[in-house]
Amino acid sequence: MGIVVQKYGGSSVADAEAIKRVARRIVETKKDGNQVVVVVSAMGDTTDELIDLANQVSPLPPARELDMLLTAGERISMAVLAMAIHDLGHEARSFTGSQAGVITDAEHGRAKIIDVTPGRIQAAIDEGAIAIVAGFQGVSQTTKDITTLGRGGSDTTAVALAVALAADVCEIYSDVDGIFTADPRIEPRARKVPRISYEETLEMAAQGAKILHLRCVEYARRYDMPIHVRSSFSEKEGTWVVKSQDVAVDNQGENAMEAAIITGVAHDRSQAKITVVGVPDKPGEAAAIFRAVADAQINIDMIVQNVSAAATSLTDVSFTLPRGEGQTAMAALSKLQTSVGFETLQYDDSVGKVSIVGAGMSSSPGISARFFEALSDAGVNIEMISTSEIRVSVVVAETQVEDAVRAAHAAFDLGSDEVEAVVYGGTGR
Ligand code: ASP
Ligand code: MG
Repeated sequence: MGIVVQKYGGSSVADAEAIKRVARRIVETKKDGNQVVVVVSAMGDTTDELIDLANQVSPLPPARELDMLLTAGERISMAVLAMAIHDLGHEARSFTGSQAGVITDAEHGRAKIIDVTPGRIQAAIDEGAIAIVAGFQGVSQTTKDITTLGRGGSDTTAVALAVALAADVCEIYSDVDGIFTADPRIEPRARKVPRISYEETLEMAAQGAKILHLRCVEYARRYDMPIHVRSSFSEKEGTWVVKSQDVAVDNQGENAMEAAIITGVAHDRSQAKITVVGVPDKPGEAAAIFRAVADAQINIDMIVQNVSAAATSLTDVSFTLPRGEGQTAMAALSKLQTSVGFETLQYDDSVGKVSIVGAGMSSSPGISARFFEALSDAGVNIEMISTSEIRVSVVVAETQVEDAVRAAHAAFDLGSDEVEAVVYGGTGR
């Protein structure tokens, strides 16, 4: 008998019918002889609706109260799911994050898990019950207040619990059949990836692919917890996220993916670009610019500094950042105009990022060239480039993101002959 942790996202528990369907699936897993722990997200768009409600009451709701409000969403789904399981003749007990022993720091809205003490969960499953846990929430070790882990954080709850319970697998259910070579909403010929490494998944998630919460993958990698990403709307085998050695071993004999250099194409429309124009080319200027951005708590992504013009000795520095932080960054930088002595600031939020990811690229030359040729053939202009060992990313105009994704997908022969991907729900979570 093994322990299975299953996480169901908002679209899998969107209404009463969906909850009953998920309940049947959970009971089947139990009947197969497993101890089952289930982590749930809030039903459908509940979290967004609760945020709207808070904003109608107050433009800047206190973070502590916002967390208290948002965690209510997961409490609703855990309780009704437990009821649905009871109705099928099985015992289920629901637990808040705090009751389940999810201990976090005190950063409201983006708390980090620092410990998991799942004594009550272990006791419940040892007594034969199914344990249902509210995702996305915990309790602060210092303040004892209720915290949330950041949007999409239920994935992280699930992996953290799976690790603490030494589960055999963490299954993450959403409304698509697994991780695809590109977003099937853009590229209908995208193919399901049978196995992918933690590192590639991290790159895909960090580059905007809406597959898994980034911290959940980091957590799984640290503790080597296999994740099975699959759909709650079908019985199909999904994608296994495992350590890189296991990708190579397991894909032998499945030959579909073994020769692939590129595992997938990710895109991100949530970024904006700031250019600091006419920066004096001398030591300390970049430091001053990025210190100001960092002090405003903004996470930047790509940076490009031009070669300075010989005549003026002035250079331009561009970087990308989350769109939502654009105004804060512009305000912080304007304050530096006289001290740094740059000419102007430009802000562009009609950009998007397209990335190719694959562990095989570190040992194959010519990957960037093939990517850029494909973009050029599709008439896509590249504004910025950045790379890692297993990724090449470009910033392009937002209107060209879809063309760029399809061009890259075709250039690396990622497509299948048939349309494989089914998008069952609405929001992709
Ligand atoms: N309900 C939360 C959200 O929508 C957490 C989650 O879905 O994982 O962000
Ligand atoms: Mg959600």
